[in-house]
Amino acid sequence: MSVNRAYLDYNATAPLRPQARAAVLSALDDVGNASSVHAEGRRARALVEAARVKVAALAGASARHVVFTSGATEAINCVVSGRAWKTLMVSAVEHPAVAASVARSSADHIVIPVDGSGRIDVATFTTLVDCVLGREHVLPADALIVVQHANNETGVVQPIDDIANVARDRGIRLMVDAVQSAGRVEIDQRRWGAEYLVLSSHKIGGPQGAGALVVTDDAKIDALLVGGGQERGRRAGTENIAAIAGFGAAAGAARSDLADISRMADLRARLEAGLINVAPDAIVIGKDAPRLANTSLIALPRAPAETAVIALDLAGVAASAGAACSSGKTTRSPVLAAMGIHNDIAKCAVRFSLGWATTEDDVSRCIDAWQQVNRIRSGVRDVA
Ligand code: PLP
Repeated sequence: MSVNRAYLDYNATAPLRPQARAAVLSALDDVGNASSVHAEGRRARALVEAARVKVAALAGASARHVVFTSGATEAINCVVSGRAWKTLMVSAVEHPAVAASVARSSADHIVIPVDGSGRIDVATFTTLVDCVLGREHVLPADALIVVQHANNETGVVQPIDDIANVARDRGIRLMVDAVQSAGRVEIDQRRWGAEYLVLSSHKIGGPQGAGALVVTDDAKIDALLVGGGQERGRRAGTENIAAIAGFGAAAGAARSDLADISRMADLRARLEAGLINVAPDAIVIGKDAPRLANTSLIALPRAPAETAVIALDLAGVAASAGAACSSGKTTRSPVLAAMGIHNDIAKCAVRFSLGWATTEDDVSRCIDAWQQVNRIRSGVRDVA
């Protein structure tokens, strides 16, 4: 990473960790198909299985439950639109990968609302689920609840233990999108009993193009990709061994980060205090809810996020306008709309997301750059 830049867009993609880079490079130098029986093949298989153990540990699952995929989007598609569910109950703040999969499915679709802080209210959720199950034709086994552990834009963490209890008590399948929470808060698929959980390598400092669908023994999967019997017939195709090895190394490191999460919380607290100090009317979205320690979504009224992000970029800071993890698109955020945030504020929301390599200097650079954003808002451009 350039020393002259502060990269604060980990929720879009995290820089490759040194351990992951080493694992990728070493795997690339090896030859062998993990399905081959010779020594080279067995070595490739060993890399995949070692990675599986590390990814399982991060998810709080058993290694045999991990299915490697090309990323979380594939895992989500496999579960949500890849199976013939009759009813999908989906939170209003899910990632577009979920929203688009739901749109493709022919299931009835029920939206689970969130409150003004972006959280699901457990009492409302329970009533909604019971109401849906009260409908004559809805059998629990044909229904799937889809909830994020933590939101990619706001970092707001859902009351997932309570949600999981409701699902389990009623025999409804649950899919948890743990893409953003991995390595930032504890994930415990076993405790939750979630039949499906999704992870992405590049959000935790592994290479792009790898992810996992973590299942339980009785979770049904209709494989999206068929062909060879890889991944126990759950995802055909020769494994991307280098990416999987890097994912495994990143998962191990991300799990260790949990022990030092207060470092992240301190950096984020410094960042938010500094930004507010520059512009006291800036609004931290989701501030009063439990949030990931690395994420800050801040709206500076009258400073459109696209302008702010460009000004920050010119000043050497990489941040996002809301959830720009795909195409830099600046359409209205459905997440902020679901939270009832007025469009005048929503369109000014800039996301800063920190991670394993973030330093105090990055935070200072960002606070300095924010002064420039604030000046632009006031119409006073810095001509120096
Ligand atoms: N779910 C969430 C919450 C995300 O933030 C993302 C990526 O931004 C995804 C799913 C998709 O992950 P991937 O890039 O691995 O397909």
